[in-house]
Amino acid sequence: MPFDMLIKGRLEKGAKLMDVIDPSTREVFAQCARASAEQVNLAVDAAAAAFDEWSSTPLAQRQAVLARVADVIEANTEELARLLTKEQGKPLAEATTEVGGAAYLFRHYSSVDIPIRVIEETESGRVELHRRPLGVVGAILPWNFPVFMASGKIAPALLAGNTMVLKPAPSTPLTTLRLGELLKDIIPAGTLNIITDCNDLGPLLTSHPKVRKIAFTGSTQTGLKVMSSVAADLKRLTLELGGNDAGIVLDDCDPKQVAPLLFKAAFANNGQVCVAMKRLYVPEKLYDAVCEELAGIANKAVVGPGLEEGVELGPIQNREQYEKLKALIEESRWDGEIIAGGDCPQRPGYFINPTIVRDIAEGSRLVDEEQFGPVLPVIKYADLNDAVYRANATSYGLGNSVWSPNVSRAHEVACRLDSGTVWVNQHGVVTPTTPFAGAKLSGFGVEFAEEGLAELTQVKVVNVTKI
Ligand code: NAD
Repeated sequence: MPFDMLIKGRLEKGAKLMDVIDPSTREVFAQCARASAEQVNLAVDAAAAAFDEWSSTPLAQRQAVLARVADVIEANTEELARLLTKEQGKPLAEATTEVGGAAYLFRHYSSVDIPIRVIEETESGRVELHRRPLGVVGAILPWNFPVFMASGKIAPALLAGNTMVLKPAPSTPLTTLRLGELLKDIIPAGTLNIITDCNDLGPLLTSHPKVRKIAFTGSTQTGLKVMSSVAADLKRLTLELGGNDAGIVLDDCDPKQVAPLLFKAAFANNGQVCVAMKRLYVPEKLYDAVCEELAGIANKAVVGPGLEEGVELGPIQNREQYEKLKALIEESRWDGEIIAGGDCPQRPGYFINPTIVRDIAEGSRLVDEEQFGPVLPVIKYADLNDAVYRANATSYGLGNSVWSPNVSRAHEVACRLDSGTVWVNQHGVVTPTTPFAGAKLSGFGVEFAEEGLAELTQVKVVNVTKI
């Protein structure tokens, strides 16, 4: 398969080719297009040229296009999921769920309305709030959920009447390129353009004068660069960035009941989730029991290539992340006690056994920084107020969770945690009907729901008075 880019409704070869690695073997298994700077400019020009027609297409027709996209994704779920597993590493069942989630996003937005709101209506006049599209949106993505993230950017932006240039992460370009190929004749030419790079063309997109908004998901470090780049011409911006989410177990939990839920919260997608639970606070009286349960689950988890039957955790997606995690694990041997994992299976891919570290605390990099992988520090607390303080004592603010059978008690604690989302008895649940936003260094702006859609539009007030 050629894996070409989508520019102006045509599949385009890249100026160069780039290799794509299967993280479960560390071997190159495909090549795809790599854009030149000129091709990025062509993609932006195409999106700018398509804007007038797409933005003036009636909303019902734009919705119908999104519904057709959902149909196409659904009809090609199996192929897309297998490709996603190959390039990203996640088990096939999770890849299938991700592709299903992508179709669901398009289906959802295919019935969302953008009504004109009447703010004031009197005998003498009327004030209306319209929401106009912004223009060309540049979408830049990470490598953990390539298909779901792409869909979460494309569907609401196109619904609102914007056009788009989308750039997947360099290590997971294939599913997005294949999606572009499948959508070539469904989305009008130029409305959606997909370009791929080797981590070199993002700045061109963020500084391009014809791009009116950047929708970025990735690390805080890159997000800061993006923010300073878009300041030059006041582009609109949403940043969905890193996190160091805490989970706080309350002292009335049953360790056996809660441990599988905590494990899933921390290890889904191999911990490579912005809203994974990345630090776990457990009260003294339950500490040994929770650690033991978690270690038991981790020791039993099946690690292997995502296409193999029964695999629960695939490889780490890329070499850089794999090396970073191995270094964090080595450091945590000194800062705490590893009670499960801490080693790598004897296989060629970027595999790490799920790792639980106990008797560790703040001051260790594993607790203070975002690990973004299958390594969970479990931290003891004596006083709940102290646990809340420690959970909040981070420059991140993406999510947090509180765990207890007493929901009103957990709710009270949840209200004291400082993050864009706080879950009770779950973690990392994101849906298109609920606003998603990071506090502090975890983000800027909102995605999803009415609030997220608003950020893909410009407020326009029409203020009429009678004479
Ligand atoms: P990254 O910041 O390295 O890369 C993200 C994207 O930015 C890639 O497409 C990359 O090519 C591009 N990029 C790199 N330099 C750029 C520049 N100077 N200007 C513009 N674009 C540039 O992130 P990653 O390693 O791919 O992803 C992991 C990070 O993403 C983690 O920190 C994770 O928490 C975060 N993340 C956040 C969310 C969220 O919704 N908050 C979701 C998923 C991942």
